[in-house]
Amino acid sequence: MKIDQSLIDEVISKVSLHEVISREAGTVFKPSREGYKGLCPFHQEKTPSFVIYNSSRPNYICFGAGCGEKGNVITFLMKWKGMGFREAFDYARELANMPLDEYSPAIERPAAAIQYHKPIPWDLPAITSDVELPTVGKPVLVHNPGKGTTHINTPSHVHVYRNTEGAPLLIVLRFATEKGGKYFHQVTWKKGGIPSNPNLQGHWYQIAFEPNRQRPLYGMEDIPHWQQKAARYILIVEGEKTRDAAAGMLPLDRLGVLILCNLGSSGAINKIDWSWLMEALQKSSSLFSPVNIILWPDADAILEKFDGTSMDPQEKFVSQWQNEIRKAMSQYELDMDTVSIRRVYPETNRKSGWDLADSLEVGWNETDFINWYLNNSSLI
Ligand SMILES: [Zn+2]
Repeated sequence: MKIDQSLIDEVISKVSLHEVISREAGTVFKPSREGYKGLCPFHQEKTPSFVIYNSSRPNYICFGAGCGEKGNVITFLMKWKGMGFREAFDYARELANMPLDEYSPAIERPAAAIQYHKPIPWDLPAITSDVELPTVGKPVLVHNPGKGTTHINTPSHVHVYRNTEGAPLLIVLRFATEKGGKYFHQVTWKKGGIPSNPNLQGHWYQIAFEPNRQRPLYGMEDIPHWQQKAARYILIVEGEKTRDAAAGMLPLDRLGVLILCNLGSSGAINKIDWSWLMEALQKSSSLFSPVNIILWPDADAILEKFDGTSMDPQEKFVSQWQNEIRKAMSQYELDMDTVSIRRVYPETNRKSGWDLADSLEVGWNETDFINWYLNNSSLI
């Protein structure tokens, strides 16, 4: 189906834009003549130049020098959370409490949507080994072919998605804003220059996935090692930062836990490319004991929507992974008896959004992790 513009307009009109931005970016807004005014979440400034127009189709513009960010709730989510158009639309639709079939077939991207990225086909080649990958703390030039802009920013986190041979497929760069916010760029390498600098040997450029294009799992380079150890555990967490922290704490060599996450938010769990993992499970299924899949959501609080209803992000994470694992296993003709799925109830005495990485940061060790898992999980 195609999303028509009237549906997009309806979603945009039903979501309170300033509430979404203040929740996501921590922006403090004051009522103004136009609607609301606050410090721009996209650039550093001391006097507010970020304006929200409270029209029937709320939108924002930043009047800060050289910034020029503008858009609506969907473009904001795409930019801030690194979502694709469909993902951002679905997220906004959920906030507006307008249900649509979760698994509707591919849709065409409406021409009216602002193109932040150019979608790429998934059969993107691995990045060759001669390319120097971005590193934390070192400025990186990122070209946005959709907008024709180039930015140099210093990433606070660099997450390299690799195939099972360890070759990089794409990179998620995370940037911190001064006010504690964050934004992401998904990039890959392209040989050759950009319009403003045609002499470059190559450059990083922002990518997005076409709406229903499958995406790689994060952590797949550990699959061959995991298989060799005939290990029985797969831990699934929310987000690359958590995955990396957990992988550092729970060494594959000793504990034999494969740790994975998906690309994008929980809204993108239904877009996972399962081929690598399912092929590994096919090889592991001859063993006697089942593979234990552990779903560990962040301690996200229940999301109150603007119409008074609510959504439980932890339940959503668990049920979506469970559904998708079952679907993928049946597609690969794997017997569900060869896996068991458990969910963990995360620490609830923490702020919303608290994740396993935060627990590890405040001093959890391997024993704490295992004890929490044993005492706070259940089979689903
Ligand atoms: Zn700005």
